[in-house]
Amino acid sequence: MNTFENKVVKSNKACHCCGLIHQMHTLRSNQRSLCTRCQSVMDIPRNHERSQGRTAAAAIAAVLLFPAAILLPILEVEQLGHHHQSSILGGIIELFRNGNYFVAVVILVFSILLPLAKILALIELSWLCTLQQRHRAWTYRLMEQIGKWSMMDVMLLALLVMLIKLSGLVQFHFGPAVVAFVLCVTMSMIAAICFDPHAIWESP
Ligand SMILES: [Zn+2]
Repeated sequence: MNTFENKVVKSNKACHCCGLIHQMHTLRSNQRSLCTRCQSVMDIPRNHERSQGRTAAAAIAAVLLFPAAILLPILEVEQLGHHHQSSILGGIIELFRNGNYFVAVVILVFSILLPLAKILALIELSWLCTLQQRHRAWTYRLMEQIGKWSMMDVMLLALLVMLIKLSGLVQFHFGPAVVAFVLCVTMSMIAAICFDPHAIWESP
């Protein structure tokens, strides 16, 4: 471990292809650094402001869509002449009331709390920047872990549809929350893709 690493702007970096160590320098916008041995691209100039801006815009769009996704009806069920609408939040409350605590907690955690935590973490990292550098790095690592579980919301939706189809007797169609839900998931995915973790370390 290089004990001087916090004192230099750019540190040493190994070529990802051949492993030769190079001392890295700050690049101008039209420069790129190549490995002296194998000519692989070592570093390209990064526009942190642009990537942060895109991340923030997509994450804010996701957070604005979130209430619509969980509060508007996601399923409209027709069962024996009765018309029944249910939102994600309403469905969770109903599950709690009926004593299905496990399923209710699973849906609450994976389709509301974790995706929301991920979006809020992205907003903090790309826009608010209230945390110290070290805490931002910690937030980023936590967000990466959360991200692995965020695919669960798509799976939950599939499970929901499967359960209703299995019950056979009901006719259903999707409510407006599906559009908000899909857009919200898409926006949070775009935010995560646009985010450049280098910005955590290279911003002043
Ligand atoms: Zn190389």
